Amino acid sequence: MKVFVLNCGSSSVKYQLFDMDNESVMAKGLVERIGSDDAILTHRPEGRQPVKQIGPILDHTTAISKVLTVLTHQEHGVIRDVSEIGAVGHRVVHGGEAFTGSVLITDEVKKALRDCIDLAPLHNPPNLTGIAAAEELMPGVPQVAVFDTAFHSTMPRRAFLYPVPYVLYQRHKVRRYGFHGTSHRYVAGRASEILGRPLEDLKIISCHLGNGASIAAIKGGKSIDTSMGFTPLEGLMMGTRSGDVDPGVILFVMDREQLTLVEANAMLNKHSGLVGLSGLSSDMREIEAGMAQGNPRAEDAFDVYEYRIRKYIGAYAAAMNGVDVIIFTAGIGENSPLLRQRVCEGISFLGVRIDPAKNDVRGKEADISAERSAVRVLVVPTNEELVIARDTMEIVSSRGAREHAATEARA
Ligand code: AMP
Repeated sequence: MKVFVLNCGSSSVKYQLFDMDNESVMAKGLVERIGSDDAILTHRPEGRQPVKQIGPILDHTTAISKVLTVLTHQEHGVIRDVSEIGAVGHRVVHGGEAFTGSVLITDEVKKALRDCIDLAPLHNPPNLTGIAAAEELMPGVPQVAVFDTAFHSTMPRRAFLYPVPYVLYQRHKVRRYGFHGTSHRYVAGRASEILGRPLEDLKIISCHLGNGASIAAIKGGKSIDTSMGFTPLEGLMMGTRSGDVDPGVILFVMDREQLTLVEANAMLNKHSGLVGLSGLSSDMREIEAGMAQGNPRAEDAFDVYEYRIRKYIGAYAAAMNGVDVIIFTAGIGENSPLLRQRVCEGISFLGVRIDPAKNDVRGKEADISAERSAVRVLVVPTNEELVIARDTMEIVSSRGAREHAATEARA
């Protein structure tokens, strides 16, 4: 079966087409600047030169339609006809409390997603738009929603409740949800495969360190805590987001600087984190380059970033009463030996020891622990799209099987 994976943002669509017979990627790409006259479609057919098209793309339906055209193009395409696509899998950011796993998209599911808009006002609307566009362009093709929050639905109440008036949970569903669930689930599964040990037996701390960053405590394959909360703003310091700050700071600054809600939101989401502290960049490569040149604010930014990861690892080792595996993933986790080295040096009390030669790796799966390390330390490139494609295929196949069974029974 060919599965088309879509990740729709407010002005972008990322896609991958999988051949699930061998889980290979046939093509992937990105449409950027949707809504403008100079939108960019970059299409990468596997094993061939990428193709770039620039022109007006005013909405998501047009964007996905252009992607389908290029996927079936004589020269750049990888399939003959859109009808070869057996299912569509959507990355959906927020499933609220309603969704604890991936689901076939029905009218009821779409209604429940609309009900979650308040919880993810920036993310869920473009996800819903993408679903509507795919329905219009591929009528009758089953679609599946895979949620960023679902993997963390196993968090116990002590991990997801905030110590604020309980009525806020009852009235507005104010609680911790967690994000990056698809990534944490994938790398935890890979860790179990790489180590040849059942997931049920492992206590894993997974560090997803990309532009956004979160860390998860995964015990017996289930997320029992994670650093992002009601929104992706809580937890670790990130590229442009603050992560944890005393809520009193926000009240104080809003008052002193006379900030509106919109401005305070921008301060915490766009002008904080690595870029806010360093004044240099949100990109860890530039922070590391700044450190190499002796820039003290780049050093501060790196130090705070690294220290906060370490504190969370300590906290999650306590939350699980132990840790067997620490995983580094996403842009920084996969590509910064320096960050991994500094984090691991500071948690040697847990029995963590890495091998400097093995740690000299970027973007590849590797066990970087030293022989005598009590904790295995792994680098695992994440693959959220593959998880979405697998869930989509599984749900669609079992649905097909059920329908087949029903048809057989009627005959
Ligand atoms: P992601 O959101 O997972 O795509 O991660 C993007 C981030 O990874 C970038 O903003 C960089 O900070 C970081 N990154 C990518 N390559 C490197 C590298 N070679 N060294 C350090 N950080 C990197």
